[in-house]
Amino acid sequence: MQGVTTPRPAGYISRAPDASGMKVHDVTADAEEFTCNAYLVTGDTPTLVDAGTMPGVETVVAEFVDDLDRVVLTHQHSDHVGELDAVVDAFDADVYAYADHPLRTHELADSETVTMGAEAFDVVYTPGHADDHVSLVGETSLFSGDVVVYNDGAFDDGSFGRTDMPGQSRERLIESLETLLDRLPASVGAMYAGHGDPFYADEESVRDVVERALSRAERREPKY
Ligand SMILES: [Zn+2]
Repeated sequence: MQGVTTPRPAGYISRAPDASGMKVHDVTADAEEFTCNAYLVTGDTPTLVDAGTMPGVETVVAEFVDDLDRVVLTHQHSDHVGELDAVVDAFDADVYAYADHPLRTHELADSETVTMGAEAFDVVYTPGHADDHVSLVGETSLFSGDVVVYNDGAFDDGSFGRTDMPGQSRERLIESLETLLDRLPASVGAMYAGHGDPFYADEESVRDVVERALSRAERREPKY
C-alpha cells in the first residue's frame, strides 16, 4: 500500500508477488547458528518449507502471517527440522514429510500435488543427499532443499548436496538431478535452496543452474 510503511525484520528477502499472489520470505535470514534456509510462502495456503534450527523462527513467521497451514519438509536432516516442534506448537500446523516423523500428518509421495502459498507444486522424489529427500516444483518456483543449491563453499553458481556421509549416494543424487530436469517447467524463474542464496533467473535460467550442478556432480569427484 502506498504511503504505508511496514516494519520488516532485518535480512528480509522477498520477491514481488507474482500474478498468483505468492511471496517467499527467508525467515531464517538473521540466524546466528547453523541452519538451513526456512522459507515462508504466503498466499491462500501459508506454508513453511523446512523449519530450520533458528530459535524463535516462529515469531518471525508470525510477523508475516497469522496462520500457518503447513510445514513441508524437503528432508529430515537435523538442520531442517530442529525448530519443527516450536513451529507446530505455535501454529498447530500440519506437517508434510516423505519419511515418518512423530509430528507428520501427511505422507508425501512422488508426483502428488501440494499447494503452497498460491501455487500448486509437483512433489519430486530426489534422494541421494538423503533417502527421504523431495523437491517441490511449481510453475514459477523450485524449492530444491539440498539436492541442488546455487552456491556453497564448493561452487558459486550451481552446486549439489554432499553425498559423502553414510547413507548418501552420489549416483542416486545424479539420477535425482536428471529427474528434476525432466520435470522442471521452463516457466520456473526462481530457485530456493536449503543453503546459500536464492537464485533468480536473468541471463541464466534455473535449468542452466541445475544442469551445471549436474555436470559437476557427474565428475564424481569429492565435493570438499
Ligand atoms: Zn541435508
